[in-house]
Amino acid sequence: MHDLVIRNGLVYDGLGGAPYQADIAIDGAVITAVGTVSASGREEIDAKGQIVTPGFVDAHTHYDGQVTWDPYLAPSTMNGVTTAVMGNCGVGFAPCAPDRHQWLIGLMEGVEDIPGTALAEGIKWGWESFPDYMDVIDKSPLALDVGLQVPHGAVRAYVMGERGARLEPATPDDVRQMAKIVQDALEAGALGFSTSRTEKHRDKDGEHTPTYKAEELELHGIARAMGETGKGVIQLIADFRDVDWEFAMLRGMVELSGRPLSLTIEQDDRHPEIWRKVLDKIAEANEAGLPMRGQVPARPTGVVLGMTASLNPFLLYQTWYEIAGKPLDEQVKALKDPAFRAKLLAEQPDYKPGEISTQLFTGFHKMFKLGDPPNYEPAPEDSAQGEADRTGRDPRDVLLDWLAEDDGKALIYFPLMNYLPGDLSYVEEMIKHPNTAFGLSDGGAHVGILCDASFPTTFLTHWGRDRTRGDTLPLEWLIAGQTRKTAELVGLHDRGVIAPGMKADVNVIDFDNLTLRRPEIVYDLPTGGKRFIQRADGYAATIISGAVAFREGEPTGVLGGKLIRGAQPRPAAARAHAAAE
Ligand SMILES: [Zn+2]
Repeated sequence: MHDLVIRNGLVYDGLGGAPYQADIAIDGAVITAVGTVSASGREEIDAKGQIVTPGFVDAHTHYDGQVTWDPYLAPSTMNGVTTAVMGNCGVGFAPCAPDRHQWLIGLMEGVEDIPGTALAEGIKWGWESFPDYMDVIDKSPLALDVGLQVPHGAVRAYVMGERGARLEPATPDDVRQMAKIVQDALEAGALGFSTSRTEKHRDKDGEHTPTYKAEELELHGIARAMGETGKGVIQLIADFRDVDWEFAMLRGMVELSGRPLSLTIEQDDRHPEIWRKVLDKIAEANEAGLPMRGQVPARPTGVVLGMTASLNPFLLYQTWYEIAGKPLDEQVKALKDPAFRAKLLAEQPDYKPGEISTQLFTGFHKMFKLGDPPNYEPAPEDSAQGEADRTGRDPRDVLLDWLAEDDGKALIYFPLMNYLPGDLSYVEEMIKHPNTAFGLSDGGAHVGILCDASFPTTFLTHWGRDRTRGDTLPLEWLIAGQTRKTAELVGLHDRGVIAPGMKADVNVIDFDNLTLRRPEIVYDLPTGGKRFIQRADGYAATIISGAVAFREGEPTGVLGGKLIRGAQPRPAAARAHAAAE
């Protein structure tokens, strides 16, 4: 008698080889048999006609605040995620001096677009040090497993106070203190250390993130300290405007620490050549034996614009503020009012050339209707500009019509990064690169402007089945890419593969009917703050630590998740398995 038996499913085991028909037996939190299981289970799931995969491991999320009040971490769990790693991009909430709570919230609000009021209300501060924070999360109820990384921004602000926030260079003594904090965090079970060097990350007042200009002395000092522990991964985002200099410094972190490093790969229209240079350098580093990976997405970084979203293309127009804040139905009425439209379109706001916001508000060639199910690879001729060219109209006039659709709930998709060719060919190049790993979903962040936590579903539906504007990719490869490989990326060798002895995190998916829905705004943050969530049809069961935690994407109430402390070796009971590639 087993605790749970999943019968008759088509198993994609996470190793990357061809799928096979098998039953899976689970006892406690561990997979105990894969093949023909004759004993019955206290609970059985008939997966006939469905596929069975390891639970998805999302190594790049920002649930650092949400995890203190929400055991379910939607929308990632609506998309098959069973392990979420947070503390990415140098931001998070520990360590934190008692008088700096509000400052850290401002940093998270600005960098990751998580409403400060929700964070202030939702976070029950019960920590100062990073190990204290881990203890608080350890005691929190959780439906899924979570891993934490120690964020450089918080560490720097803790040690250097205002000097750190003002981007002053760290002194040797500052570096010693930061290095000690990072070591203590790794010893307490942090999975890694993260930092940010991008001008895109600003706090709520528009100031650069504190780590933006961290110098070699500081980064290498921390890296050496990581090397002494022999623990943890390094994760970061950088602009690479001076690719040779910046990459060499970051590569030095790997050389000094011996720890694996992954960094964001994205194609920015303002500097469209940088991403390939960075990938070439990553390949060179690997040839030299240095474990470096590019983190790559399933889709463009997709900003969602609309009347219910945080952004829309008219935010810089004075006339817009005649209706901003009014009830949605009144706004929609104004959008249809010829006098209001004429007044609005007569305006020409002052755009700052080169700013991301300018791209977002004037890039009409990259504004697309986001349908349901959403189309994440729209054709250029379907953009607002394309429609305007076809009909001889002002693209802004087209947008006013689009915004009013669906009683004002319509959404406009803006593929900010990775969409220069007008299709996903750059993304394809990124995900096929031998030294990249799937990531960048940013689950829990940017909650009012994008919803990329659904990347795992897009990998299956768009790349594995539905793509028409280019090739699809083998499903077994895609599944391995977001299970075993993302688990290995952060040192978790106990999950991500369906085999006896491995952790029993499993998805049962009605793949033929797997459908990503359009993002929707919900008002469920503490203090009623709004955020996007994104559901998917077809996740029949998501099993976490051996029990069904989600059915059809909805929580069952089972809270079998826990805080992961440190890298996890392959369980002794797990048979040796080799990847198929
Ligand atoms: Zn991030």
